[in-house]
Amino acid sequence: MTARPSTPAPAPALDRVDIAIVGAGAAGLAAGIFAGEARGNRPLRIVLLDGAKTIGAKILVSGGGRCNVTHDGVGPRDFQSLCGSPHAILAAFPAQAAQDWFASLGVALKREETGKLFPVTDKARTVLEALLHRCHALDVTILPQHRVTEIVPSDAGGFRVLHERGSLEAGRVVMATGGKSLPRTGSDGYGWEMVRRLGHRVTPTYPALVPFVLDEAMFHAELAGLSQQVELTILVEGKWVDRRSGSLLWTHVGVSGPVVMDASRFWTSAHAEGKSVEVRCNFLPGVGMEEAERQLIELAAARPRLTLGKLLAQRIPERLAERLCRVCGIEPGLTAGQLDRASRRAVVLALTGLVLPIARDRGWNDAEVTAGGVPLEETDFRTMESRVRPGLYLIGEMLDCDGRIGGFNFQWAWATGYLAGRAAAAA
Ligand SMILES: Cc1cc2nc3c(=O)[nH]c(=O)nc-3n(C[C@H](O)[C@H](O)[C@H](O)COP(=O)(O)OP(=O)(O)OC[C@H]3O[C@@H](n4cnc5c(N)ncnc54)[C@H](O)[C@@H]3O)c2cc1C
Repeated sequence: MTARPSTPAPAPALDRVDIAIVGAGAAGLAAGIFAGEARGNRPLRIVLLDGAKTIGAKILVSGGGRCNVTHDGVGPRDFQSLCGSPHAILAAFPAQAAQDWFASLGVALKREETGKLFPVTDKARTVLEALLHRCHALDVTILPQHRVTEIVPSDAGGFRVLHERGSLEAGRVVMATGGKSLPRTGSDGYGWEMVRRLGHRVTPTYPALVPFVLDEAMFHAELAGLSQQVELTILVEGKWVDRRSGSLLWTHVGVSGPVVMDASRFWTSAHAEGKSVEVRCNFLPGVGMEEAERQLIELAAARPRLTLGKLLAQRIPERLAERLCRVCGIEPGLTAGQLDRASRRAVVLALTGLVLPIARDRGWNDAEVTAGGVPLEETDFRTMESRVRPGLYLIGEMLDCDGRIGGFNFQWAWATGYLAGRAAAAA
C-alpha cells in the first residue's frame, strides 16, 4: 500500500543526540549548518526539530517572495533591544560574512540601491534550498512535524526534549522557535513558554514592522495605492522617541510602507503599555513649520490666482493636497491670494505634522517581526549560551532584538545562529 502524501516519513531512530535545535527557521537552519561545519570529523549528531509540516515557510514569503537576506551596512543602530546591546553579536558575524557564507552555499547575491541584498534569482526558494541542501550535505537531520512541547534538564547534565512524537536526549539544546509574527508559519510564541520554565525572563512582546489601520473618518482609502516620501515623528507621553524618513504607502485600511513599518514598534509598545502615543507625519521631509510657511507664502505670492490644491500640488501629490485642505476645513478651490493667515497656518501644520489617527496595528498576521523577547543580557554574547541554564542556547527572533526593514532581521538570525552553532559543536 502506498503511503498518503500527508503521512510523515518515519523519524529516524534518534533518541540520543549531541545537539538538538528546536525550530528550523532561518536562525535554526544557520545554527545547524554552522554546528555541522564546526564538528569536523567528530561524530556529533545534530538534529533540527520543527513543528511545521513544511520547513522554511517564512523564508519563502520573505521580502515579497525574494528574500532580502541581509543589508550591506549593518550596525547596532539598525536594531532595538530593551536590555543589552546586539553590538558584539553583530560584529562577530558582519554583513560581509553573511555574503561570503551565501557565496559558499552557492547563492549569488545582488545589491539594490538601498543597500538591501537579494539572491540574483529574485527567488526566496534559492535561499531555502541552499540552506536545506547544506544541512543534508553535512548530515544534519531535519525533522518536520516534531513540535517540541517541553525541555527538561536531565540528571546527566543535558536535556530531555519532549516532542509530539516522543522524546530524545540532547547534550545541548539550541532554542530557535522565533517570535509570534506570521503564526501560520509555525512561530506562535510557545518557545518563550518553554524557556520561561527553564528560568528565563521574557520582556513584553509586540508586533513590529507592522502596518496601521487608521480611523475610518480619515481619507486613506481615497488615496489607496499612492506612495510618497514622508518623515514620521513618534511622541510618547508628549516626548520625542523616534524620527525617520522614508516611503509611506496609503492602503484601503490605513498606512503601510517601509517608514511606517519601521516606526510601528514604537507605537505598538507604547500603546500596549497604555501610554499616549502620537505619530506625526511631515509630508515635506526635512522641512520645518517655519520654512514650510515661508515657502507657501512665496509660492502664493508668485501664483496668487492658483487654487490652493494646485499650489500644494507643486510639493505633494495633488490627491493628497486636496484631502489635506479638507482636513483643515479649507476649500481646495480657494485661490492662493484668498488664503488668510489662520488658514495658511492650518495648512502648514497639516503639511508638516499631521497626526495620523491610528485605530490599531494590523496584528501578528501582518507583522514581519516581534519586538521584545528573552533579554540579550541573559545570554553570553560570544556563544549565545544561556547565562541561566548552561547547555541551552537562544537565537533569532525569540530574543529581545528587532531590526528595521532591509534584511536586518535575517542578518540577526544568521549571526546568532553562527555563534550558537559553532559554540554548541565546540562544547
Ligand atoms: C512576511 C514576512 C517577510 C519578511 N521579510 C524579511 C526580509 O525580507 N528580510 C529580513 O531580514 N527579514 C524578513 N522577515 C523577518 C524574518 O523572516 C524573521 O526575522 C526570521 O525569519 C526569524 O528567524 P527565526 O529562525 O528566529 O524564526 P522563524 O523564522 O519564525 O522560525 C521559527 C521556527 O520555529 C518553529 N517552531 C516554533 N515553535 C516550535 C516548537 N514548539 N517546536 C518546534 N518548532 C517550533 C517554527 O515552525 C519555525 O519554523 C520577514 C518576516 C515576515 C513575516
